[in-house]
Amino acid sequence: MINFNEAPFTGKEFRYMDRAVRNKRISGDGEYTGKCCAWLEERTGASKALLTTSGTHALEMAALLCDIQPGDEVIMPAYTFVSTANAFVLRGARIVFVDIRPDTMNIDEKLIENAITERTKAIVPVHYAGVSCEMDAIMDIGGRHGLKVVEDAAQAVMSTYKGRMLGSIGDYGCYSFHETKNYSMGEGGAILLDGEDDIQKAEIIREKGTNRSQFFRGMVDKYSWVDLGSSYLPSDLNAAYLWANLEEAEKILNQRMASWDMYYERLSGLAGKGKISLPVIPEGCGHNAHMFYIKARDLEERTRLLEWLRHREILAVFHYVPLHTAQAGKRHGIFCGEDVYTTAESERLLRLPMYYGLREEDIDRVCQAVEDFYAQAGNQ
Ligand SMILES: *Cc1c(COP(=O)(O)O)cnc(C)c1O
Repeated sequence: MINFNEAPFTGKEFRYMDRAVRNKRISGDGEYTGKCCAWLEERTGASKALLTTSGTHALEMAALLCDIQPGDEVIMPAYTFVSTANAFVLRGARIVFVDIRPDTMNIDEKLIENAITERTKAIVPVHYAGVSCEMDAIMDIGGRHGLKVVEDAAQAVMSTYKGRMLGSIGDYGCYSFHETKNYSMGEGGAILLDGEDDIQKAEIIREKGTNRSQFFRGMVDKYSWVDLGSSYLPSDLNAAYLWANLEEAEKILNQRMASWDMYYERLSGLAGKGKISLPVIPEGCGHNAHMFYIKARDLEERTRLLEWLRHREILAVFHYVPLHTAQAGKRHGIFCGEDVYTTAESERLLRLPMYYGLREEDIDRVCQAVEDFYAQAGNQ
């Protein structure tokens, strides 16, 4: 059996978690949380990185920082995880979905401006598969219309756009360290931000709406409830696991890239014959091999291919059902313009096994199975 995903494990996780226990500091903001945040700040250039209990919670913090009010509108692609939308809907926002580009599955930057109204508060680009959206164009639109830009960089840790780390370009950047992501702490995430005002606000939001962080730094002599907030601090035990991953960030990245390149190379024959489409990495985008997907002709062919692979004990999966077609998406959002690519492209997409520790012979077996599928009568 070839699994679709396995949690990243480098070997030092037990040692660090053991140490976190011995520190007798297993709540938030202990030794390992500090190490992870410092690493994120150093790597991304963001002035502040705060670990959170999930990528979802990083997005919720971003929605609070954007000061979303009931009736405000937020622009995002419909081809994304539910949390991207939920975080803003929880604050009373209406979601305005715009179509994606078929090459990267990312929001089509050319359609954003047309979706802006006087109620628009924020744009949320999602860097699908760790491949960057057109951030220059998006930041330009955000700047000209006075909108916040929240990067859903959940899949994009270590990815770049024109040399800059994804997550550090918009007003707020949200990472996920869920088990299925390149670097993990089981459940967890981080928010990246700049600017003293926002940093102070974020620390309050994350500490249940109190100025507890300032209290610990000796800036106030007692702490109290000062604003809206919740509990978004992960335990230092989880951070200890993450630290063992981040310490080996390059090694994990390089191995994933080698797997990605091997898939790409091996499947380019089928792509050349027009059987499948392969992912596109635009000029200037440095990706992190978060995902390797292919696109079949249509939904029917994809369904048969998934079944074919499952029969050969290969766990491949499809991905998002576009949010504007979901029950809650219809209630809380509208699709602006025509859905040319979102639904059609999402129905073709199939993700192949990808994780740290995936072996070359596994990739070989997966590619062979895909080739065999297209060699059958009826698929030629
Ligand atoms: C994983 C993911 C999230 C949510 O992250 P969690 O840590 O699972 O809460 C949000 N957006 C995208 C695009 C994701 O891939």
